Amino acid sequence: MPSVIISGAGVAGLAAAWWLARTGWQVQVVERGADLRAGGYMMSLSGPGFVSAERMGILQKILPYAYDVKENVYRDRQGREVVRLRFHEFTKGLNHVAMRRTDLVAALAQDLPEGVDLRLATTVTAIENGAERARVTLSDGTTHEADLVLLADGMRSPLRSTFFAPDEACLKPMGYRFAVYDLEDRLGLGVDFASYTEPGHIVEYYTLTQGRLAALHVWCSDVSGPVPADERWSVLAQVCARSNTIVREQMEIARAEGVVPLVDDLSLVELPTWHTGRVMVLGDAAHCLTLISGQGAGMALTSAAILADELAHLPVPEALRAHDARLRPSILRLQARSRKMAGMFVPRSAFAFGLRNMFLRHVPRKWIGRYFLNAVHSEIAAAQGPELKQDQRAA
Ligand SMILES: Cc1cc2nc3c(=O)[nH]c(=O)nc-3n(C[C@H](O)[C@H](O)[C@H](O)COP(=O)(O)OP(=O)(O)OC[C@H]3O[C@@H](n4cnc5c(N)ncnc54)[C@H](O)[C@@H]3O)c2cc1C
Repeated sequence: MPSVIISGAGVAGLAAAWWLARTGWQVQVVERGADLRAGGYMMSLSGPGFVSAERMGILQKILPYAYDVKENVYRDRQGREVVRLRFHEFTKGLNHVAMRRTDLVAALAQDLPEGVDLRLATTVTAIENGAERARVTLSDGTTHEADLVLLADGMRSPLRSTFFAPDEACLKPMGYRFAVYDLEDRLGLGVDFASYTEPGHIVEYYTLTQGRLAALHVWCSDVSGPVPADERWSVLAQVCARSNTIVREQMEIARAEGVVPLVDDLSLVELPTWHTGRVMVLGDAAHCLTLISGQGAGMALTSAAILADELAHLPVPEALRAHDARLRPSILRLQARSRKMAGMFVPRSAFAFGLRNMFLRHVPRKWIGRYFLNAVHSEIAAAQGPELKQDQRAA
């Protein structure tokens, strides 16, 4: 029986475990966290990610946790309405589902076939990458042999630099940072989103279950790199210094609760190859697309399915090459799109901000709806491409 060791029990790692265990592999997954609850932000699946979730039968399991967002009202610093987006107008007829990342991860973990060895609070400490097998040492002191090692441990994959490239060479900051956290809901938005937008910064709020509210900030930043946990609120306080009072109030509520926000860069990961010998990078560790693409988790699910498809009929080295050839065109298109769209989502200068708002305020609603509908379709087309359409027909 071929065997795989997967570092990281996020979307990519669990999807790979799910597929490989079902296609006859012995699977061991190690996860640094003591549980799988980190990263509870809202995300959506559409295009190939939606199809992959459907193929796995995971879609049905996440539907009870899905969010049906009606509209998003954008306001400026003074609280004046910039635009009101009715989601149903531009998602009509589209297959898509919005849920929290934690709910997708929980559904994947619960659906793992029996026999998958999932070890929490454990990391890979060393890998000997042989021609036929890899020898892996774990932080619990055990060593294991495997036919394949998957590094699915996110954008800041710690072992990537040993086998692929140092972070300075493959992490490409886009000049933005993001923060996510949740807090007691005092806004009562119901099923709607509320966004506060200002030059170089946007904040989105949405209601979670159990009286909680989620916040997502994205802002322009000339500095990049991990932000230590004890500095995150002061970084955010600086970003929000001139924001609408509601924004500053929500931040203070969360800070007073002792919540630690997740803060990181919007960085693409660019690597010329995703495999070397018996070691492969998967998901954000291989090709982070950033939240701007709206397809990172979807492509992680799709990538895992393609990998399992190829491993089912090819020896490991050929299968890894075939996976790369099938997935890469979509990834390159989505990364190019992320670069292009970031400025639209968060205009940097006051001039670009004013211009965008003038467009949103004065152009007929019907045109705005059509503009967003086109944007969603072009995102899905970039993700899908002819290579993946073929794959889904085959499925
Ligand atoms: C705010 C936000 C909104 C987003 N919205 C969307 C969206 O709408 N649609 C979409 O498709 N995508 C979206 N994305 C992107 C999506 O979340 C990622 O692309 C996806 O989660 C990548 O999955 P992954 O498994 O590769 O990495 P991750 O989800 O980052 O998982 C990596 C896992 O590895 C673990 N780990 C880290 N280091 C180690 C180690 N040394 N040893 C063991 N384990 C380790 C981590 O704890 C984690 O469990 C969004 C991202 C953000 C931040």
